[in-house]
Parts: sequence; C-alpha cells; structure tokens
Amino acid sequence: MAKRWLGLLAAGLLAAGVLVPAAPAMAAPTFKVPFPCGQSWSGQTRSAHSPAYAVDFNRTDDLGDPVVASAPGTVDRVTDLGGTSYGKYVRISHAGGYHTYYAHLNGFNVSVGQSVGYGKVIGWVGSTGGSTGPHLHYEQRLNGADIQVRFNGALALYWGTKNYSSDNGCASSTGSGTINTTSGVALTVRSGPGTGYSSVGTIADGARVTIQCQTSGTSVTGTYGTSTIWDKIGAGRFVSDAYVYTGSDGYISGVPRC
Ligand SMILES: [Zn+2]
Repeated sequence: MAKRWLGLLAAGLLAAGVLVPAAPAMAAPTFKVPFPCGQSWSGQTRSAHSPAYAVDFNRTDDLGDPVVASAPGTVDRVTDLGGTSYGKYVRISHAGGYHTYYAHLNGFNVSVGQSVGYGKVIGWVGSTGGSTGPHLHYEQRLNGADIQVRFNGALALYWGTKNYSSDNGCASSTGSGTINTTSGVALTVRSGPGTGYSSVGTIADGARVTIQCQTSGTSVTGTYGTSTIWDKIGAGRFVSDAYVYTGSDGYISGVPRC
C-alpha cells in the first residue's frame, strides 16, 4: 500500500482530537539491480563521484546492453543533455518521494508518463554526456537528495567496487515490505488470508518481511487504509497488507498470486 493513506489516517485522527506521533519514515520501494534477471555487473562507488552516492556499472562489452527499471514507477524524464553531464538520461518516479536516475544512455526505450515495472527495458548502456567510456551511471534519490543506494534493502558498498547480480524481473520473484502498525504493537500472523484463520504468532512493528505471494482475503483497515490483500510471508503465515509498507498501491508488480 502507498503512503498517501497515512496522511488521510493522520488527518482523521487529528480531527478526532487524538494525539498523533510524527509519521514514521516510509520504507523505500524494493529497488533491484537495473539490469535483466541473472546478469552480474561490477558497480563502483567513490567519494569524488558526483553526486557522491551514485553507482557506475560496467561489464565486458557493455555498450548497448539493456538497462531496466529498478522498481515499479512512472517515467518522468527522458532527456538528452547533449555532450555534457548525464547526456541521455531517464528518471523514474517511485512511491514515497523516491527517484532513480539512469545516465549516459545510448538510447531510450520509454517516454515520459509511461508506467514501468521490474525488468522493463528503459534504454541501453552508452557513453553520452560527460562520459569517457560506456557505463551506466545510476542514482537513487529521496525528495531530490542523493541517497546511498540499496538493492533488495541491502546497502551498496561504500566505497569501492563490488559485483552485483540481478534478480530484477526474474519469474516468480518475491517482494518485500516492512510491518508498520504505527503503535509499536506486534502484528498478528494468521494461518490463512483472513482474520477468521487461527493466529500462529506475531511479528514486530518495523520488521522487514519477504512476501512470497499475495492473495485476496478478508478486508482489514490498517495503517495504509482498507485492503483485502493478504501477504504470505512463510509457510502457513499470512499478514494483512493493510499493515505492510511495500511501496506499491495494491498488488506488487512481479510478485505472484498465491
Ligand atoms: Zn557516474
């Protein structure tokens, strides 16, 4: 579910005269390596880079290799700056105020306003703009500020060069999310997708979960509004998506139905 529900919830509680704590920081979308499933790329970070937390990706003979969307979102820039800076670049807007940048591209495969999901080819590796050789310059930003890059929630190497292997757009991909009850209270885990199923334990507020699949069940009103979606987080373990921040409004792109 998306963060806009939180604002509505907070506004409702304020109107009711209830003291509301500051809204918790929203978890990031689940960003994946910006190359097709199964590929391995060398990603370099360096403190003198501009901006500092950007990652430059390379592999052998990479000129013209496809670049894919890091997470679902909407393309909001497809720009050619000519022989300077990013050269040909794409920017994607994601839930929660996040953006990703893909620069020095050889060409574009998307247009502004287009919705993209995991694995969608957005362009090809090039050496346009202020680049001295083919590579992909990649950034993650939050509310416009350069942030340290994460893939599947794991921080990239700062500083240095490391191989990153892609699970972006792989079939039967899992998703991930963060439990958010807003109150610090643990969330009940059910044996099936509904409140009528037996409780099989609890999971802590703020815990990160892997979502194997999603299905429809009983309606629950939680942190992110009212939802009938239930997330399977293990064998015989389900939680209501109304309490899980996934970066997606509704079903998560690329995650199968149970
Ligand atoms: Zn760069």
